[in-house]
Amino acid sequence: MKRYKGLRIARIVVSVAVAILITLLWIEYSDLVLRSFGWIEHTQVIPAGVAFSGVTIVFWLVMTSLFGRIYCSMFCPLGVVQDVAARLGRMSRKGTRKDYHYAAPMTRLRYCSLAVVAVCFFMEVLIIPAIIDPYSMYSAFVLNILKPIWGWINNAVAQIGVQTGWWTVGYVSVITASVFGVALSLVSVFSVAAAAWVAGRPFCNTLCPVGTVLGIVSARSLWHIDIDTDMCTNCRKCEHVCKAQCIDLTDHVVDSSRCVGCFDCLTVCPDDAIFYRPDRKQLSLPMMQSLDGPRVGSASACSTTHPLTDISELTSNDKDETIS
Ligand code: SF4
Ligand code: SF4
Ligand code: SF4
Repeated sequence: MKRYKGLRIARIVVSVAVAILITLLWIEYSDLVLRSFGWIEHTQVIPAGVAFSGVTIVFWLVMTSLFGRIYCSMFCPLGVVQDVAARLGRMSRKGTRKDYHYAAPMTRLRYCSLAVVAVCFFMEVLIIPAIIDPYSMYSAFVLNILKPIWGWINNAVAQIGVQTGWWTVGYVSVITASVFGVALSLVSVFSVAAAAWVAGRPFCNTLCPVGTVLGIVSARSLWHIDIDTDMCTNCRKCEHVCKAQCIDLTDHVVDSSRCVGCFDCLTVCPDDAIFYRPDRKQLSLPMMQSLDGPRVGSASACSTTHPLTDISELTSNDKDETIS
């Protein structure tokens, strides 16, 4: 749908800008970026949680309850890493194998991971949260891997400047991490990227504690992805681009707790049948509606519950009319 292209482009621009700023914040040897853009760290959920900064936490909970997991689509640098890996993975595959398909939610794994992180955090066993928490994982990767490389490149350029006299660049003291730190950063970030290469955003909807908390809130977010079954022709194009694998075209519902707000599905629909909006489509076919109330982590979490939903409450005449 053309009207959503601007929204998708804005999402990509903001996410890349945030990822670049956070990378520069950790990679630089001066405090140039820190002085001008140090505030960017205050937008991150985990540093705010560690610092008990209620403002940031409340801000993101409110934003998520209104607009869904836009934090995951725009403000998480590890989300950008996964998007890049997912895009490269799709490009490397041929034919329909590059398409995503709906997958059932792994709700138990999500809650177990969140519980483990919470318990470790309060018992001050910080190694586990440091491995799973997306901000720590990304900042450690920049500090342990990218920063030394940046320092070596800087010194090589400075050396060439000294030898040729073409420019003057100051040397920096390259800080290198321990072998364990380097190995841990490499394994954790490349594992997440490899999973994204194959399946989009599996880390975001299984192990990430931030994603689980935001998912609980976004399951009932005001603005959400909504499919109009009267217009949908079941072409499955939206399902095939959904990196969260949360579009269930059997029931025509989108699991808002897993939707990471990338807006990719909105721009591929040939029938203008999928929307990002506050209201929910009243399905014209009662049989296609959810039998249960909204459940977190369920594909029916954002489906419409209609008065005629429970078929067991219909009279036999009603059933005949409904089916006809
Ligand atoms: S779920 Fe976690 S890793 Fe994924 S984008 Fe959100 S905060 Fe980042
Ligand atoms: S339903 Fe899937 S493709 Fe659509 S915005 Fe959500 S995550 Fe992106
Ligand atoms: S892309 Fe549009 S028409 Fe195709 S399945 Fe999705 S909502 Fe339906």
